[in-house]
Amino acid sequence: MQLAGKIAVITGGSRGIGRATALAFAREGADIAFCHLDDAAQADTTAAEIAAMGRRVMHRNLDVADIGDGQRFIAESGQALGPIDILFNNAGINIRKNFEDVTEDDFDRIVNVLFRGAFFIAQAAYKTMLPRGAGIIISTASQTGLKGQPGAVPYSAAKAAIIGFTRALAWEAAPRGIRVNAIAPGPVDTDLVRQNSPQWRAAFEARLPVGRFGTVDEIAATALLLAGPQGGFYCGATLSPNGGDVMH
Ligand code: NAD
Repeated sequence: MQLAGKIAVITGGSRGIGRATALAFAREGADIAFCHLDDAAQADTTAAEIAAMGRRVMHRNLDVADIGDGQRFIAESGQALGPIDILFNNAGINIRKNFEDVTEDDFDRIVNVLFRGAFFIAQAAYKTMLPRGAGIIISTASQTGLKGQPGAVPYSAAKAAIIGFTRALAWEAAPRGIRVNAIAPGPVDTDLVRQNSPQWRAAFEARLPVGRFGTVDEIAATALLLAGPQGGFYCGATLSPNGGDVMH
């Protein structure tokens, strides 16, 4: 078991990539705290599956855009489970619109959830890791942060910010024993992309070298690599499982 006895905190753990990662981490021995927004039934299902593996689990319904709630979530996770070893900073949304139609509210919501929220949750977890001189922070960026995507200008910009944040923090964090990395998935079959039309998906899949969208388990495998003992030499990296959408 690669994560035996570890405490992992996951934002956006009720469904999609966060859920698959929570289950993968639990399977490898980690206890799990996760947060989510509104999807209580899915959160309960995920928590029950983790508990059925014999792991401790807690979950909270909160909005990561609320910095105070995010900080409280980190504090409560530590109190309930013990010192945090791993943060998977993953909660996310998208609002698909052409650039000319993006409102200030759209912009604020995207940036507040994807970047501002992720930034301050990472800071709260980081502060608990510093005294121990150990910890792992992984954030979910996106391939859109590497190559851009039409209809997703604020989203792509916020994901590029996550990549810059990861690189800068990695410089500060690594000498203090904390490894910081990001994952930039290509298109993955989750509720987030199911918002788009079947035609959009078919056209996207047709131009992907592998000819299909990724699975949540393929992204969870990358998170596990970064979180586990075999990921020790990754520092400030952005690993991008993306089916060939971006080659670099
Ligand atoms: P999803 O919609 O399946 O899951 C999103 C999760 O985030 C859920 O648990 C939801 O409750 C939670 N969440 C959403 N807004 C929240 C908020 N304000 N506060 C707290 N929790 C919130 O989506 P997903 O595809 O699994 O996305 C996970 C991450 O992966 C996101 O950061 C997304 O941008 C990123 N991503 C997804 C894809 C993809 O193709 N699915 C590709 C690249 C990156």
